[in-house]
Amino acid sequence: MPGSPKRARSAPTAATTTAAASPGADRPLKPAGETRAILERLYGQHPNATTELDFTTPFELLVATILSAQSSDARVNQVTPAFFKRYPDPQRLAAATTAELEPQIVATGFFRQKSKMLLGMAQALLEHHGGQVPADMDALTALPGVGRKTANVVLGHALGVPGLPVDRHVLRVANRIGIAQAATPEDVETQLCAALPREQWTLASSTLILHGRRICRPTQPLCPECAVVDRCYFAAEMRTAMAQVEGAKSTRAARAPHTLPAGRKPSAPARPANKPTRRR
Ligand code: SF4
Repeated sequence: MPGSPKRARSAPTAATTTAAASPGADRPLKPAGETRAILERLYGQHPNATTELDFTTPFELLVATILSAQSSDARVNQVTPAFFKRYPDPQRLAAATTAELEPQIVATGFFRQKSKMLLGMAQALLEHHGGQVPADMDALTALPGVGRKTANVVLGHALGVPGLPVDRHVLRVANRIGIAQAATPEDVETQLCAALPREQWTLASSTLILHGRRICRPTQPLCPECAVVDRCYFAAEMRTAMAQVEGAKSTRAARAPHTLPAGRKPSAPARPANKPTRRR
């Protein structure tokens, strides 16, 4: 496989996590053993989760992941077959122009910015890595258009180096359940990597992404269908809030002095006894 590992990557250090505000600061972070048990259940609910981007080489996955920013995997998969045919390697891509690239990737959005990133990435691969995709976090994130999430996707799915990409789904789902307590992707990555064996990092990320897309949606999560509903802080808080609402309704109903028969309107309030009447 091109771009064989130069050195194994590690999770960000604990020092990087201290400054971030935690979205659920009053909840304790679940212990590592519970995090592993929760992930096991989710692996069962979403068996063999993996990236939904189509690719055959690390270079193709790097291109597809850059294109997937602010887009959907399905949309990217519509564009990439023709793109990969025309630009199968960094040499061919680096020789293109932005004017040539833009119309081919317009469907993925932000096509001007992305075409510049793709050209810069391909040129940097030729200049610094002999046209190979490096299996190293620092080298990958030094490429134009490549952040930590993209690097982790390529490392974990195409280069055999465990990586735990944290996108908006992983960020949301992990915080809701309580297997992470952090506001930034880097901090969530650190907490999950600390709790899980390295060989599970990539699978854990793919599983949480699928769970976020299918079950734990941003609005109206499908909690009754969730394999970890009994272990989720968010679901427990929702149950408590619902119970409080129901309790308040019952209290109001019990305090109501009269209950009118259905269809009967309340009569006008009686005039206060001391209200002066107007002289005519
Ligand atoms: S119980 Fe609900 S909020 Fe918690 S992880 Fe499952 S779907 Fe998401």
